[in-house]
Amino acid sequence: MKSILLLVLDGLGDRPNPELNGRTALQAAFRPNMNHLAAVGQTGQMHPVKPGIRSGSDTSHLSLLGYDPEKFYTGRGPFEAMGLGLDVRGGDIAFRANFGTRKENGEITDRRAGRINNGTELLAKDLSMNIDGVDFFVRAGVEHRAALVMRGNNLSDLVTDSDPHEVGVKVREISATGESAKFTAEVLNKYLTETRKILDTHEVNLERKKNGESPANELLLRGAGLAPSLPLFREKTYLKGACITGIPMISGICRLAGMDLIDVKGATGRLDSDFSAKFAAAFKALGTYDFLVMNIKATDVAGHDGDAIAKKNAIERIDRAMGGIEGHLDDSVICITGDHSTPCVMKDHSGDPVPIVFTTSGIRKDSVRFFDEISCARGSYNIMSGDVLRILQQLSDRSEKYGA
Ligand code: ZN
Ligand code: ZN
Repeated sequence: MKSILLLVLDGLGDRPNPELNGRTALQAAFRPNMNHLAAVGQTGQMHPVKPGIRSGSDTSHLSLLGYDPEKFYTGRGPFEAMGLGLDVRGGDIAFRANFGTRKENGEITDRRAGRINNGTELLAKDLSMNIDGVDFFVRAGVEHRAALVMRGNNLSDLVTDSDPHEVGVKVREISATGESAKFTAEVLNKYLTETRKILDTHEVNLERKKNGESPANELLLRGAGLAPSLPLFREKTYLKGACITGIPMISGICRLAGMDLIDVKGATGRLDSDFSAKFAAAFKALGTYDFLVMNIKATDVAGHDGDAIAKKNAIERIDRAMGGIEGHLDDSVICITGDHSTPCVMKDHSGDPVPIVFTTSGIRKDSVRFFDEISCARGSYNIMSGDVLRILQQLSDRSEKYGA
């Protein structure tokens, strides 16, 4: 049976760019390998979630892996916690958090602790503990940001924020908004009392006070979210799956789905990522796995930077790194697409569909010869909505018959 490689170029789709004479970065890039796959394959446009939905990488990847985000996306908390590298499991409760500054009487004077930009990892490290059978894990993010994950029995996300969302008022006691969350609220308040003792006397904060800076002595919690329990990918699809990515949030989603994670040295999730090493690892893994999803983030990074030239250059480097890919078409189904568009002119995600190509030996190829947003719009799949996984199963002859 053929194995499947789903290559997701993050934020690949774009809009005409004035810096590129009205072409998209993909249109402007020298991309002989991608064009070859389009010329011998089937192409189209794809809405990763649904038409008009301006999706994030989290909701899009859920959808591409066959998990309906309307059913399984439980809010930003758990996915941002994964994004900071926390191990999030189904049933965990996750919060977005800020390090803030609290006066002795409990009043919050700064929700960002003077925009603290170092030492938060040291603070976070000392805030992981177990209280009443519940494990608490904290990880620091950029500047004052952080995330908290709680793991234990009988936990609920029906609790209020401790973050008052304004300064000059006291930090809020956490309360349950549903009967089932009483224990969660109780243990959270105990935990926050413990963290205050640690933060007030922490060497990072003593040093900050000495330098006249606001101490980061309160972990302000908001947006409690229940991490979804995903049905295992293997049980759902009968595919032995693995993931290659430099992005903790994507590996977090794949881990929730029970997929293996393949670590590639030099995969950074940035523009400087070692694409050749990633493709080498992917080609090798095709021999072991039925399904491989590989995310390359550089295209999205350049899109958010609004840097069309950097996006074009990243696509050219990716294209070079995939040299030899046509040698795998007899044994594999290969799909290249994006998880959403990140137009350089927007510096953010848009709801524009992304180009998609499916290639394998013996496929009913269409007449499109170039892989880009405009050419693929004339492809045989026209415009599709997140059905990628089902089509990949079909093309690798794994689809179950629907009916007699
Ligand atoms: Zn993305
Ligand atoms: Zn993005």
